[in-house]
Amino acid sequence: MMKLALLGASGSIGTQTLDVMRLHRDEITLVAATCGSDADALYRLTDEFKPELTGVVKPREGFTVRPGTLTGANVNERAILESGCDTVLDSVVGMAGLGPVMTALNAGKRVLLANKEALVAGGELVMDAARRLDEKRGYSPDGHMPPRSLTPVDSEHSAIFQAMATHPGRVKRLILTASGGPFRTWTREQIAAATPAQALNHPTWRMGGKVTIDSATLMNKGLEIIEACRLFSTPPEQVSVLVHPQSIVHSMVEFEDGSVLAQLAVPDMRGPIAYALGYPDRIASGVGVLELAGKSLTFEEPDESRFPCLRLAYEAMKAGGGMPCVMNAADESAVSAFLRGETDFYGIADVVERTLEHFAGAPAESVEQLIELGSEAKAYAAALIAR
Ligand code: MG
Repeated sequence: MMKLALLGASGSIGTQTLDVMRLHRDEITLVAATCGSDADALYRLTDEFKPELTGVVKPREGFTVRPGTLTGANVNERAILESGCDTVLDSVVGMAGLGPVMTALNAGKRVLLANKEALVAGGELVMDAARRLDEKRGYSPDGHMPPRSLTPVDSEHSAIFQAMATHPGRVKRLILTASGGPFRTWTREQIAAATPAQALNHPTWRMGGKVTIDSATLMNKGLEIIEACRLFSTPPEQVSVLVHPQSIVHSMVEFEDGSVLAQLAVPDMRGPIAYALGYPDRIASGVGVLELAGKSLTFEEPDESRFPCLRLAYEAMKAGGGMPCVMNAADESAVSAFLRGETDFYGIADVVERTLEHFAGAPAESVEQLIELGSEAKAYAAALIAR
């Protein structure tokens, strides 16, 4: 029986995780559930799954938090340490997911990672913690496969994880697919004038606000390039991106013999969630049947002149150290400013680029230092926007 702590339970990944868990009540118990602010949504879930521990980081005003519910900045860490969980699904939004991932791995818990920012910002510190836990659990490294203690939930990385498993030591290149977002066919001028409402209208995936805007700028793909480099121990030169508007091929792995293996499915996050929960088995997910007859699958090169965030991500990854953390923090700041109407669409890439220039050469020596660097970069980006 898996004892799961679900961090970010009221969000899009959290609620879809609970959908999958409804199909596996005898195999998975929810022992802890946390959320950022929406206590009402959390209790709707709590009442059905009855976790022993619930937590709300910062309850929204007007909501009543029930007695016994934890509150405060360290709710996620406490849920990991005090609930008796053996597995943690981290779907906290943004860099706030980094602390919980480190706490979980250091406490010997397996992590199912839906929070890509933690891996982008935390980088090799997170990977090292996962490798140390693998060693303790008696697992040895297996080619380009991620440590057994850290399983990806992001759909592209789940696809690569699934395709890679056949020959993890014979990998030549990772090919991430991207839907292209709502502005795939727009001109640069049209994109420049895009409103938050237009950017929030994603063609194939229903997700939270931050990741949807990141999908429109392609920064989401940029974060995923870095996530893939880390998880699969692959240099950025061997990770490429293909725009695939149908979102049926979720990513591919090219092997040394020229063969390319892809994972295909209906675009539905319950698939990668179920794969992570059931790994190394495959368990029911509730995802519908993929009907390929009559469908065309198309692929095109991404256009970096209309979507500069892709280039910024490659540059940040190549620069290494604390630069992916800086990029992510600047993006978090810029995306919130865009959603509040304080900057235009290309203002996001511009602010990220200028913040990267300012922090060039920033190191990554400890998690505390990265968290500090992240807040500094956020503040710098916010000041650029306010100017
Ligand atoms: Mg993804």
